[in-house]
Amino acid sequence: MTLIDGKLVSSAIKEEIKKEVAGILDSGKRAPHLVAIIVGEDPASMTYVSNKEKACHAVGITSSVYKMPVETTQDELLKVVDFMNRDADIDGIIVQLPLPASIDKNVIINAIDPKKDVDGFHPESVGKMVAGMDTFLPATPYGIVKLLEYYKIETEGKHCVIVGRSNIVGTPAAILLSRKAYPGNCTVTLCHSKTPNIKELCLSADIIIAAIGKPGFITADMVRKGVVVIDVGTNRVESTETKSGYALLGDVDFENVSKVAGYITPVPGGVGPMTITGLIQNTLKAYKQANI
Ligand code: NAP
Repeated sequence: MTLIDGKLVSSAIKEEIKKEVAGILDSGKRAPHLVAIIVGEDPASMTYVSNKEKACHAVGITSSVYKMPVETTQDELLKVVDFMNRDADIDGIIVQLPLPASIDKNVIINAIDPKKDVDGFHPESVGKMVAGMDTFLPATPYGIVKLLEYYKIETEGKHCVIVGRSNIVGTPAAILLSRKAYPGNCTVTLCHSKTPNIKELCLSADIIIAAIGKPGFITADMVRKGVVVIDVGTNRVESTETKSGYALLGDVDFENVSKVAGYITPVPGGVGPMTITGLIQNTLKAYKQANI
């Protein structure tokens, strides 16, 4: 079994980005700039945003966080997005999800200038991805394909079973793995909560991508020998074995599935580090498209 080390791959990609940003600064130009807008004080969102900030700083990308109170209205948020769309010193805008229930996230995502849509969630970015055009790929599916690429895992003609069809992970991963490219050329089965025979489908998979949000959902009796397992799940569960009182578990029963799999990602340290790297990569891309 080969452990797919997301920390290692993301460090290698970030090193390349760091060199490129240093070259930009040496030429007298300003650094790329990512802005994260956060509404309210959801602790998990605050942690994600702070991790994104740290990762940007580590590669020389300017990172700002614009905090708005939980009472913020949709119109107020739209005004801020509009202001940032028109600020030439901002290259990438992300609006941290989830938003308060009074705000329609689709309205906000739709308002972000597609040239600054580094999360890749805007319908224009999604449409381009489906059409196989150059665009900002959503960070987590980007991370998944980069891991497959780094480990030179064969994907052509393989059966890839994806469990979970969210707009940010499962559905875009299905599009990327079925495109006519490498990594891609898979025959993809996209499963969700209404799929009756997930076990049988997983047993016929060469590659399984689990993005469900249920700890240990994929068990050893659901996978065949040599399968490639990409575990996207990040589930906080209470634990007496950690100082913080909780542990992060994936959607895969790692202990037992790793005995059968050919390749497997751990949680943490698999897909997670790649997601932030994807965001940074997109910010640099947005900067270059606008400034170089
Ligand atoms: P989501 O929006 O909640 O979607 C979950 C998907 O799983 C849905 O399509 C749902 O089906 C499906 N599902 C739920 N229960 C199921 C069941 N019993 N059988 C089959 N399918 C089932 O979740 P998400 O945002 O994609 O996130 C999934 C997991 O990945 C979470 O643990 C999240 O924290 C993690 N995540 C990690 C990263 C990272 O960087 N590592 C990034 C994003 C997400 P329906 O569509 O039918 O409801």
